Amino acid sequence: MVEAKNWSIIMQDIVNILYEDSLVAKGLKEGLIVNIGDGCNTRFWEDRWTWDLAFRRDFFDWELEIHSTFINLINSHFPSRGFRDHICWCFESFGLFSMKGLCKWIEDKVNEGEQWALPSQVRKIVPPKVRLLFWQGCYNKIACKQNLLSRGVSLEDNGLCSLCSQAPETADHLFLHCLLSWSMWSDIVKREGVAWVPPNSLVDLAKQWDFLCVNSDPILWKLIPYSLVWFLWVRKNDLVFKDKAFNREKVWDMHVMQIKWWVKAKWKDCPYNTEQFNANFCNIRMKMTAVSVRTTTWQPPTLGTLKFNVDGAS
Ligand SMILES: [Zn+2]
Repeated sequence: MVEAKNWSIIMQDIVNILYEDSLVAKGLKEGLIVNIGDGCNTRFWEDRWTWDLAFRRDFFDWELEIHSTFINLINSHFPSRGFRDHICWCFESFGLFSMKGLCKWIEDKVNEGEQWALPSQVRKIVPPKVRLLFWQGCYNKIACKQNLLSRGVSLEDNGLCSLCSQAPETADHLFLHCLLSWSMWSDIVKREGVAWVPPNSLVDLAKQWDFLCVNSDPILWKLIPYSLVWFLWVRKNDLVFKDKAFNREKVWDMHVMQIKWWVKAKWKDCPYNTEQFNANFCNIRMKMTAVSVRTTTWQPPTLGTLKFNVDGAS
C-alpha cells in the first residue's frame, strides 16, 4: 500500500507511459473508456468517442433489422445526473482495471501472426517471467553471448557457449542444440517412446511439441519446455556469474520439481509428490478443473490509498 501523499509521483510515471510508443500505451488507451454520467468531466467536442457511425455503403434489406437493433443498443444509454462520469476498463467484465487484463491484451497482440500460439493452460499456470524468457528464446532476444557480441560487448572467447565451449552461444544452441541441453530433451521425448529428429530452432520445437505427447498428461506436457528452458538459463547464469558448476542432474531435478510446484499452486489437493513426478511423470494425470480454480479475490483499497497487485509467483 502506498500513502496518498506520494500519489502524484506515481501517477506522473503512469501518465508518462501513455506518451510512449509501446504496446502498454496502446493497451491503456484502448482499454480505458469513460462511462458518461452527468457529463461534468466530459468535453463533448474534444474527447475521442468510441464509435463512428459513418457506414461505407447502404444496407441490404436483411441488414436493416440488425442496424436498427444496433442503434437501439447504443441509444439505450443516456447521460444521467444520477452518477458522475467515470473511467471504466473495458477488458474486464466489471469495468475494473487489472494488470492481468492488460497483460493478456498485450500477449494477444504480440502473438498475433505468430507461427505458434501460447496455450491458454500455460498462461494460467506458468508465471509471466518464465513465459517471457521462452518467447525471447524463440526469437533470439536473450542476452546470450552472440547477441552481446552483436551489441558491441567484447568477449575473450569470441562468444562460445558457456556450457560446452564448442559452438557459438545463440539462444537455439544454448536451449536446444548444446549437447547438455539436447540430452535432456532427448530423454524427455524418449519417455514418450517417440523417435525424434532435432528441430532446427526453439520456435520449431514449440510448434512440434504438442504432437510429441503420447503417454504424458497433455497439460503437464505443455509445461515442460517452459520449465526446462527456465532452468537451463538460471543454471547457465549461475555458472557465468557465480562460478557454480553446471550440473545436468540438478537441472533435470529442478525442472521436474518446478512443474510440480506450478501444478500444486493451482491444484491444492494434488496427490502426487516429488518422487512420483520424478519417477512416474508419464502416469500423472491433471484434474482439468484444477487449473481454473481461483483461491483469492481482489479487494478494493481503502480511501486515500493506492494498492498495487504484484504477481509473487516464481
Ligand atoms: Zn554448448
